Amino acid sequence: MTGHLFNIQRFSLDDGPGIRTVVFLKGCNQVCLWCHNPESLLPAPQVLRKDSLCTRCGRCEEVCPHGAVFHNDAGFLTDHTKCVRCGHCIDLCPSDALMLVGYDKTVEEVVKLVCKDRDFYQRTGGGVTFSGGEPAVQSEFLLQCLEACREQGIQTAIETNGNYPLELTARLSPLLDYVMVDVKHTDDEKHRRFTGVSNRQSLASAQYYLAHNATDLRVPVIPAFNDTADELQDILRFARESGAKKVTLLPYHTFGISKYTNLSMPYTLGSEPLSVAAVQAMVDTLDTGGLAVEVNER
Ligand code: SF4
Ligand code: SF4
Repeated sequence: MTGHLFNIQRFSLDDGPGIRTVVFLKGCNQVCLWCHNPESLLPAPQVLRKDSLCTRCGRCEEVCPHGAVFHNDAGFLTDHTKCVRCGHCIDLCPSDALMLVGYDKTVEEVVKLVCKDRDFYQRTGGGVTFSGGEPAVQSEFLLQCLEACREQGIQTAIETNGNYPLELTARLSPLLDYVMVDVKHTDDEKHRRFTGVSNRQSLASAQYYLAHNATDLRVPVIPAFNDTADELQDILRFARESGAKKVTLLPYHTFGISKYTNLSMPYTLGSEPLSVAAVQAMVDTLDTGGLAVEVNER
């Protein structure tokens, strides 16, 4: 079986216990306004234009047989709804400014690559982490990868938004040694406004994982979304009542903004980054009720 990926990162120390290989699957079922991996959102490969290399020569617009390239004051842009990923513009760009983000790999290819670092996993308590995008969007591919990694004795983890039916959560759960699941907001209307979807399935999945797996709840702390003391307190209350032991807060940053330009995608949030110190200062005013609350940067 084949899956759509956009990256495989070896020797990661930030995506679960120990040294890990992180497999980034393409495609997401939410559109979070602050997403710092916009190349993960579409399920298919995408043309990326490195703005710093583009000389605005216009060759890509000339050669595109599908009218998928246009320009405005900001430069040359790709209309991903028209692009069929034929690659003509990439081949003919004189500045090597264009590339395709995303590629396919079979389950066997992924597992073979993951197994290369088996010694490091064993020495550090690490393993493989499936991330995205939302890895569960390619649910059958993910399930097969997890089963195959388990057969090879590799510890498994997932970074997930939990936004899928509980039937899928229950199929994934027994194949996972560690779960990092996002809890973004306890208010459904606000969650819909900033992510495009209800929080109902995410909260239910988080509770399921907490009951069945070693689970870390992750909270991206985003200005004007969930960065008040009351909103964070509500999330901590949900976590405590759901049996969480640990919550990790991820202060908003803007490292991914240039990717939006390169992918011809709009970035609409327009907020200033939050410092770790500012988020920590707010946490210090909250009633954590015995929860371990860590503030770090993603
Ligand atoms: S992406 Fe390449 S072909 Fe297109 S305008 Fe820029 S330099 Fe020219
Ligand atoms: S990959 Fe093909 S369809 Fe897409 S923008 Fe380039 S030339 Fe046009």
